[in-house]
Amino acid sequence: MQGLMQDYPLTISHIFNRAERLFPNKEIVTSLPTGRQRITYGEWAQRTRRLGGVLDQLGISADGRVATFSWNTARHLELYFAAPCTGRVLHTLNLRLFPEQVTYIVNHAEDEVIFVDKTVAGLLWPLLGSFNTVRHLVVIDDGGPFDTSVGVPDGIELHDYEELLEQAPPVEFNVADENQAASMCYTSGTTGNPKGVVYSHRSTVLHTMSAMFADGFGARESDRILPVVPMFHANAWGLAHAAVAVGADLIMPGPDLSPKSLAALIESEKATVAAGVPTIWMGVLPELAGRDTSNLRSIPCGGSAVPKALSEAWREQVGLPIYQAWGMTETSPVATVGEIRSHLKDLPEEELADIRAMQGLPLFGVELRVLSQETGEQVPWDGESRGELQAAGPWIAKSYYNDDRSPESFTDDGWLKTGDVATVNADGYIRLVDRTKDVVKSGGEWISSVELENEIMAHPKVAEAAVIGVSHPKWQERPLACVVVKPGEELTKDEVLEFLDGRVAKWWMPDDVVFIDEVPKTSVGKFSKKDLRERFGDHKLPTA
Ligand code: ADP
Repeated sequence: MQGLMQDYPLTISHIFNRAERLFPNKEIVTSLPTGRQRITYGEWAQRTRRLGGVLDQLGISADGRVATFSWNTARHLELYFAAPCTGRVLHTLNLRLFPEQVTYIVNHAEDEVIFVDKTVAGLLWPLLGSFNTVRHLVVIDDGGPFDTSVGVPDGIELHDYEELLEQAPPVEFNVADENQAASMCYTSGTTGNPKGVVYSHRSTVLHTMSAMFADGFGARESDRILPVVPMFHANAWGLAHAAVAVGADLIMPGPDLSPKSLAALIESEKATVAAGVPTIWMGVLPELAGRDTSNLRSIPCGGSAVPKALSEAWREQVGLPIYQAWGMTETSPVATVGEIRSHLKDLPEEELADIRAMQGLPLFGVELRVLSQETGEQVPWDGESRGELQAAGPWIAKSYYNDDRSPESFTDDGWLKTGDVATVNADGYIRLVDRTKDVVKSGGEWISSVELENEIMAHPKVAEAAVIGVSHPKWQERPLACVVVKPGEELTKDEVLEFLDGRVAKWWMPDDVVFIDEVPKTSVGKFSKKDLRERFGDHKLPTA
């Protein structure tokens, strides 16, 4: 017997229509070099419909890729809806990718048009000649100084965003197929070329709903949401869509992500929710001293591990600990959040801080499992046993776009291999310990490079440290610590090892320590272990 309920498609136009009808007076504020720009959802909706008309007039194909090279702004939010609601596919280009990666993804996605903020046009212009399918370049004047009169290569037409919008007719939005592609985003890729993830209308709507769960980010109408996390990568963690869906005001930080500017926005715009990566909140906290932060109710944070000390520093100064989330481009991105379960709420602050340092519980809708590398079975929920974290659910990718590397990343039963190594405790909390390719495999046991690095970085003379596995005749691999000493300080291998003695298990002790000038980074600022392995892969360990 079949259910007798309506087969109502979950599309982004539903989110749009709701905001247009119910919340026309709520506002989007954008901080630009020229000052703060305010627009109501009513005005935004009108402009977004006309932007749909612009895409028609430019002759963008029915499912053409519409790329953006843009900060978090109301204009970018217009593109976020106009492209998918007219059946096109929004492709957010990550401003922080290396130039050759931008060329690769523009050509791989076959972008037909790129909308670019003037403040970052200088990064894109030198690459225009390398784009094979781009026919239109639309400049959004956000007050940046770039001189667009330098011209563009033959075959590309240059336009001004506001001029196009002025003369375009508004269009109706009606996407019928919820499984149609809505947007795409490429991973930054620590190895090889970036891989494309394609979100559907359905996956986007369901992920948006998860941002409204009380035990998720809990987005609601009364919020004023400040997404510092970029719209150009990982969908601003769903908050741009969720704010529109619930009719919350949006505070868009624009190009200036300096701690001072963000602290000023939080205070003067009365932000209630502000989401960003740990380095952002490290910088902002001291700037908030003496400011009125009484409106803040939630500080979602993720993208990399949230140090316990950071969360505690927020709790002490602002009265709100940081709220950790974990996810990746392939998971839309939010898959876990660090809500404290009710039976744990009365624990001493020190223990609550340890729970907040974990990545959290899977959101409703997301299934997670941790498989032992040796047995292939799920590890016990003891908070200690490690294995590879895998994910399934309606907003989790099932393959990459046109990429023969897909089979390596998905299991035969369709789960995403996240590439993260994790534990699960008795309450179901996930704790990430490393990336699968970075753990040091010593005699069949795993040593977490991340945990070792954290211990080494606790040394007062250490600026940065990265740990890689180096081959060993007996143990297969042993840890090598690559350490950057703070300027003006001196440190020896023995001092590092003495410091670690008692802090880590004996068999975790690095077999050697090398001193380097800096830890190489990927385009998005994560440690590039690949570069370190290339440099030190053949390093002769003294005990080997
Ligand atoms: P990339 O494009 O580099 O893959 P993602 O934003 O998709 O960028 O990165 C996802 C990865 O970031 C995760 O697999 C995980 O390793 C790391 N990550 C994300 N959130 C957290 C977190 N809260 N704690 C630790 N690591 C995290």
